[in-house]
Amino acid sequence: MPDRTNRKIVLASRPEGAPQPGNFRLEASPAPLPREGEVLLRTLWLSLDPYMRGRMSAARSYAKPVEIGEPMVGGTVNEIVESRHPDFKPRDVVLGYVGWQEYAVANGAGLRKLDARRAPISTALGVLGMPGMTAYTGLLTIGQPKPDETVAVAAATGPVGSTVGQIAKIKGCRAVGIAGGKDKCRYLLDELGFDAAVDHRSKNFPDELREACPKGIDIYFENVGGAVWDAVFPLLNDFARIPVCGLIAQYNMTELPAGPDRTPQLFRQVLTKRLSIRGFIVWDFASQAETFERDVATWLKQGKIKYKEDVVEGLENAPQAFLGLLQGKNFGKLLVRVSQP
Ligand code: NDP
Repeated sequence: MPDRTNRKIVLASRPEGAPQPGNFRLEASPAPLPREGEVLLRTLWLSLDPYMRGRMSAARSYAKPVEIGEPMVGGTVNEIVESRHPDFKPRDVVLGYVGWQEYAVANGAGLRKLDARRAPISTALGVLGMPGMTAYTGLLTIGQPKPDETVAVAAATGPVGSTVGQIAKIKGCRAVGIAGGKDKCRYLLDELGFDAAVDHRSKNFPDELREACPKGIDIYFENVGGAVWDAVFPLLNDFARIPVCGLIAQYNMTELPAGPDRTPQLFRQVLTKRLSIRGFIVWDFASQAETFERDVATWLKQGKIKYKEDVVEGLENAPQAFLGLLQGKNFGKLLVRVSQP
């Protein structure tokens, strides 16, 4: 049996504010051996996602934090290298959740076989995976889009935002994307068919957003919070729906921003405009997994949904790429190619 070394990236310390390279450590140890009923997995693709910032903190949340010295968690696409499990054979490719490491053993629970003939295997971590399902369920179930309504979404070139905007178009809405920088805005208009794109880094961002939404906003798919929310808030129409999906602009916050306290203003608008604001975690809608896969796979085949991947080579480059994600340096779904099949 070959000696295999497992390289992994562990959480070295918890960040205060923005994470730093020193919060991660690359370690190597012998790869584990599968026992009866287990498989040995080699990681092909690792997904880097904003929620991982939350797992680095000890603060109470909807999921357990990563312990110091443990590998960072994360969705993966893996190849089976050895199998002592009746349902899997070597070379099978599966969707797993083994985190930032090259090898892991698993007992088969939670592994899902992927068929490369159906779609590129990396899409199981993006448009056909957790981020795509987040967009689909949040927009359709909470947003309830109707033809001619205006749907605004930030982080609009990422896997969640780009899918939200394109599904909004499929549903006959006007899609307004908010993104960081000219290139990302151009991509939204030229490649994804958004009706308008606004750069949140522009000095006149609130005015430009107002111009891009002449009939106000009926659905604001909240991915970022912070200054983007401040610009969106006055534009919300009566009965607007706000699926609260993510607040990436706040993930590194160590204290509340200085006053004034705007809660009374927020609640006044919630009341007078009859706003519906609902937070969600994608797994709240686990029962929609099949419908999501069927619909989005069909739209991909029909060319109604496109996706973009931002690929980083090598596990050792995962920390830097993750730090970049929190600053908007990624352009598309951020993936690490850990090894080749
Ligand atoms: P992206 O690939 O879009 O990456 C995050 C993007 O956020 C960056 O590229 C950047 O885009 C933008 N961003 C970062 N900081 C700021 C800021 N201060 N102000 C405005 N924009 C900022 O990520 P995903 O598509 O994977 O995720 C999008 C959101 O959805 C995240 O908030 C994530 O946490 C959330 N999410 C929630 C889930 C749930 O179950 N509720 C599941 C999956 C994701 P740009 O350069 O365009 O500003």
